[in-house]
Order: sequence, then C-alpha cells, then structure tokens
Amino acid sequence: MPESLVILPEFPQNIRVINQGEPDGQDWAFKITSSSGRDVFAVAISPVNNSRTGPTWSYIFDADGLTTVDLGTPNSFANLEKAYSRTGISVREIDRLIITHGHSDHDGTVPEFLSKSGAEFCAHESYSALKGFDQWDIQDRTSSPLQIELEQLGREKIERNVYKERYELHEAYYEDRKTTSVDRNLVDGSTISDATIFSTPGHSPDQICVQIDDLILTGDHVLPEITPHPTSKMLFREDIKKSPLVEALSEEHLYGLGTYIESLGKVIALGEEVRLLPAHRLFNKGQLNLCGVERASDIVLHHQRRLERLYGHIGRGKSNLTDLTTSLFERSKLLGGNLMAALSEVVAHLELLDDVGDIEISNEGSMTLIDSETPRYVDFIQNIAIDS
Ligand SMILES: [Zn+2]
Ligand SMILES: [Zn+2]
Repeated sequence: MPESLVILPEFPQNIRVINQGEPDGQDWAFKITSSSGRDVFAVAISPVNNSRTGPTWSYIFDADGLTTVDLGTPNSFANLEKAYSRTGISVREIDRLIITHGHSDHDGTVPEFLSKSGAEFCAHESYSALKGFDQWDIQDRTSSPLQIELEQLGREKIERNVYKERYELHEAYYEDRKTTSVDRNLVDGSTISDATIFSTPGHSPDQICVQIDDLILTGDHVLPEITPHPTSKMLFREDIKKSPLVEALSEEHLYGLGTYIESLGKVIALGEEVRLLPAHRLFNKGQLNLCGVERASDIVLHHQRRLERLYGHIGRGKSNLTDLTTSLFERSKLLGGNLMAALSEVVAHLELLDDVGDIEISNEGSMTLIDSETPRYVDFIQNIAIDS
C-alpha cells in the first residue's frame, strides 16, 4: 500500500498513515510529528478477546533511547510484534517501556516484552507497591457504610465468580506481574530525557500521563468517546498497609472521584496547545480522535451531570445504593460483570457528595441531603477548574 500523507487542517501535527486498518481501529498505524519535529508512532494492538474499549494504542518515540508507552492485553504479544513491524521498529530495539497504569490491557505482555527487548521498565511508584497483591482484595470496606453495602451486593451477586473467572483466564499474567520488577519508579514531575510524567490518579491509583513536546499520552485518564471508570475511595487493609512500599502511599490522593476530577483539572491546565493521545479509541468508527484538553472538560461535565442527577434523586427520597444505581443506569448496563462497575461508580459519586458535605449517610447506608438549597459539589468542581 502506498504511504499517503493525511494533513488534518484543524490540528497542527502532520499525521502520516502507515497502515490502514479496520473501521474499529484494529491494525491502524500512524506516524505523528510533534511540535519539535519528533516522530511519535501510534500502533493499535488488537486484544485477543473482543473488548468494548477496542485495541490498546501503543506509542513509540525517541527520548534518549527508543521508548514505548503501553502494551496490550495478556496473550497479545504476537499482535504487538505485528503492529510494530509496520513502523519498521522491532521490539528488540526498544530501550525503555513505560506503562501508563496497571490494568491488564496496558501491562498484559510486560514479561515477553522485557525479555525480547531488554528494555528498562518504568511505572508509577504505586504500581510497584500494589502489583504484588490481588487488586480486588486490598480494600478494607468495614469502616464505610457505602463500601460495606458495595461489598455485600458484590459478594452476594457476582463478585466472587467474576473475579475467579478473570483470574483463571489470566492466571499466568497475574502471577508474572507480581514478580516482574520495575526498574524506575515514577512520581509526579519525573522526567525521562525530555519526556515529563504527570501523576493523574483516579481511574487507577498508578495512572500517569506522559508529555512529549506538545503531545500528551493519556493512557486511560482521558479517552475519546468513552468516560473512563473512576475508582471509589480506598482504605487499604491493615496487613497490606504494613507493606513498606504501600505504607508510603496516601490512599486519599490516589483513589476516588474527587481525585479523578482533580487529575482532569491537571490536564485542562495544560492548555490549548497540547494534543491528547489516548490508549483507546484513537481511531474508531472510521475517524481519528485527536482531542485537545476540552475532552477532559467534557468528562468533568459528565460527572457533574451525574452528581446533579444523584443529588436530585436523593432529594426526592431515593435513599439507597441499589435504587440510586437502577435509576441512573439502563437495565442492560446492570447485567453480569457490569453491575459491580455501575454500583462502584455510583459509590464514587456518593462519596464525593459526602466529602463535600452535600449528603449524610447513615450507618445503615441510607442517604439524605444536608441542605437542599445550596449543593456544594458545584463549587468543588468549579474550584478545580479555576485552580488549574
Ligand atoms: Zn484502565
Ligand atoms: Zn485501558
């Protein structure tokens, strides 16, 4: 296929299509030129199983050595090698691997990648601290009525089976991840040559964005088309908290919707000059989604609307987690594994309303408005936008 130069008039970068793939993004590869004239390759790594979020976009650029940001799902290493071959770069040439966060669709093939490339492995410090534990089992839910209810609903209905199935499907991934050591732990403001790391927790505690010139590799922090799932608040179990690396972490700044919205503010503060390169949906439905920071503002607005609806429902007397969740999500979004995601997302929103002083939650988990005249969440969100 002859290489074609596609210039998108609304964006400052030249985007060269290296490989044309499917309308859903699979098999596409681009070469994006940054503001300093640096080439950033973007390749879609197809997952081995169908995924709602689509392929994972892996980025490759030179910053004092060839650097890769993000890989694909477990067992997708052959797909990655195929995708890389389109750029003319082989995995062996990569000097450094950065993972934007520790979800399996990003770090799913780290051991194979490291053994083939001998690359230095970099991730946020909380990735190193937490990867040794089963992620669904680190939360002490006993001290929060909402978390107690979430635990009960999850345990009664689906949690055990879903997690067990997920674990069995990718047992090797979970076990390897525990023993693969990180060479360089990143924190907010870390630099790798002239790439800058921003810590942007909320979707995941270890979520980072990587800035290279005017391009921001956002991982799952900011995505086009879909709103990333925010975590609910976290209180580590006592025994996990005692682990030396975990002890140094501050849960309240790594988890929860308030944390996530603050991290969106950080991206908004980067201003109109930057372009966002997401880990999913860079190309979908036959079009390229190269967004600016306004996408982060849209996501803030989405959460503000959801808070508004919850606030309204509570004001009209809906007072428990299940009722609030069913009034917010369509039935189809509450089936199987989706139910826990929906419940925990509602918990994340209720925790924010609780934190800012808009609602009171009884020990039994029922909710009432504190003062129906002046919702405080609006100020909380606006202050973040002003601060940033
Ligand atoms: Zn993720
Ligand atoms: Zn992802």
